[in-house]
Amino acid sequence: MTRIRQQNVTAAQWSSNGEALGALDLTLPENEAFGANVFSVAVQRERLPSDVFGKLQATLAGGEALDPSLADAVAEAMKDWALEKGATHYTHMFQPLTGSTAEKHDSFFEPAGEGTSLAGFSGKELIQGEPDASSFPTGGVRATFEARGYTAWDPTSPAFILENPNGALLCIPTAFASWTGEALDGKIPLLRSMDALSRSALKALRLLGDEETQRVFTTVGPEQEYFLIDEQYFYERPDLIAAGRTLFGAKPPKGHELDDHYFGSIPERVLACMMEAELEMRKLGIPVKTRHNEVAPAQYEIAPIFENSNVGSDHQQLLMQTLETVARRYGLVCLLHEKPFAGVNGSGKHNNWSMGTDSGTNLLDPGDTPSENIHFLFFCAAVIQAVNKHQGLLRASVANIGQDHRLGANEAPPAIISIFLGAELEKTFEAIASGEGDPNTPASFLELGATVLPPLPMDGGDRNRTSPFAFTGNKFEFRALGSSMSLAFPNTVLNTIAAEAIDELAGKLEEKLNGGTGMPEAVMAVVEEAYVANKAVCFSGDNYSDEWHAEAERRGLKNLRTTPDALPEVLDDDTVAAFENYDVLSKRELESRYEVWVEQYWIRANIEAETTYSIAKTMLLPAALRHLALIESAGVSSLEGEVRELVDELVSALGTLESANANPGLEGLEMAIHARDKQLAAMDAVREAADKLEKVVADDLWPLPKYEEMLFIK
Ligand code: ADP
Ligand code: MG
Repeated sequence: MTRIRQQNVTAAQWSSNGEALGALDLTLPENEAFGANVFSVAVQRERLPSDVFGKLQATLAGGEALDPSLADAVAEAMKDWALEKGATHYTHMFQPLTGSTAEKHDSFFEPAGEGTSLAGFSGKELIQGEPDASSFPTGGVRATFEARGYTAWDPTSPAFILENPNGALLCIPTAFASWTGEALDGKIPLLRSMDALSRSALKALRLLGDEETQRVFTTVGPEQEYFLIDEQYFYERPDLIAAGRTLFGAKPPKGHELDDHYFGSIPERVLACMMEAELEMRKLGIPVKTRHNEVAPAQYEIAPIFENSNVGSDHQQLLMQTLETVARRYGLVCLLHEKPFAGVNGSGKHNNWSMGTDSGTNLLDPGDTPSENIHFLFFCAAVIQAVNKHQGLLRASVANIGQDHRLGANEAPPAIISIFLGAELEKTFEAIASGEGDPNTPASFLELGATVLPPLPMDGGDRNRTSPFAFTGNKFEFRALGSSMSLAFPNTVLNTIAAEAIDELAGKLEEKLNGGTGMPEAVMAVVEEAYVANKAVCFSGDNYSDEWHAEAERRGLKNLRTTPDALPEVLDDDTVAAFENYDVLSKRELESRYEVWVEQYWIRANIEAETTYSIAKTMLLPAALRHLALIESAGVSSLEGEVRELVDELVSALGTLESANANPGLEGLEMAIHARDKQLAAMDAVREAADKLEKVVADDLWPLPKYEEMLFIK
């Protein structure tokens, strides 16, 4: 198996469309091969009339809208292929604002008289669906009396077959919009942002002398963390069922202090499960590459090779779904929550992001020729400017209730967004800023052959795992995403703010060029200006330290600790301007997202708070009382005091939680703040008392599986 060279990939990979990536040598039975269940370019070539195939490919390469006259022919071929694969139904699969995936199945078959039926699937059915969308969150974009929503086929993300023991389903990736055309999903803005970035980057590339590139793609390679626990425990934990995380649980005697789990050998049942999940993903054309144990016991990671942002984002949704589905076949449950176990490392999702041209050049690769290097410096400076200007928005793009237990909790980046450039690259930018090259250029620096150009590091080299946004050699790694998140919005944000910054820098470059400044000098001047103006966001120290919080405040960086602190950034003036200027989301579409996300926060907080109350009141308190009765019947009064005290503490905390859970009659952000400050705070007090009781109540009376069981029995 050759290692894929990610620095210089082919155009096919930026726009991967279910094609096997050259480096994956998978000699497998035909029905298990990479992309076996994907209506891939190869399948299309084989099954579509050649003129239709040609036109479809041309449409996709140019990123333009599809000619509706092609749809019937594509639908026919897709249906025949799906029927051969055993599909009886099809679905338009989309991503509503909840971040999860939605599907409604329709049969291919229709009665044809005399008790027979015929399989039909028209171009119209392929292109557009009309789900009754009244129960998807819209944040007020659509009044409930106007329930119509439309799904629209996205031909740039390949259709695929989902198998089930009792049949198969043709899944068609689609966008989801209101009848007035407003985006109600994650895909539409992501596609718009990819277009925006391509337009800006092309304009800049022309100025930089590139006449060939026709399209620039953004790419994403996610690294997904997750837990697997035995399903028996899952069913015994109403908190895991209702909230996806444990709301109770004393710290086990053994955690990950021994550092014996990370990269350790993978338990057999878990490995078997991973292998089957990977097989399913392979069939779906998801280029899974890496698997390993993560830091916490029972925690693992899976990472596919990067793809273009749209396909990568769809594949990520499928990856999460596949992990959850396949785990069940092994008597396991996959937990994607950001913090399933308090006191144990939570789960994140690193989002590796870059931009690449249709001719296969990675714009964030320092490269090894001087001209590539100026391109790199230009685009890199644009990213620094974008991240600095939109720190708050980036923070908001990774906000959800699960993240509030993780960000800043010494296991994940803080809620302060900063960039880690790496020592070498930082030196390069500093040298540009000071106008003095470093005379002691280490050997690992590239020789650029032009005195105006500073040396560039060949490799990102050092790493800083505490940074939320790190340059890692040929891409930026946005490390603050939560494990349960869709990639759509964070990448929409990255693409949009990068498009804006690239345009701003290109404008300055154009001015300098028009003013007679020559070529590398003009770029270097723009890069210098951008870096100097935005370097406050660059930080290479320990992001987990208290000093950084103080230093960040001195630098004027935002520190948005919780979701209710962060979400208003979605409606910040700079956000609205960038999204409107680049036609990614209108103000109304941003408002709808803000409303939905605020609501999701307090609804989920409320579910947690009510679940906490009910578990404590109906399961844990009775267990404690039984234990007390046991002590009394044994007549060992010296043991009574401690238990009584804890029972009193629990009862009193429950009283506070009960009042916090009463509807305060607030709305929107105020409701979210109430949930955070009153409900979640009261839950913590209940938990504290209960966790202490867990350590004294007789084990056979304690009704919940304990951390040591859930985390260590594999
Ligand atoms: P490391 O983080 O150790 O450098 P890799 O280089 O293998 O590991 O990359 C980690 C992740 O980054 C993988 O998911 C990979 O697909 C992704 N990645 C690599 N190059 C790019 C790129 N140009 N754009 C987006 N993601 C990328
Ligand atoms: Mg990791």
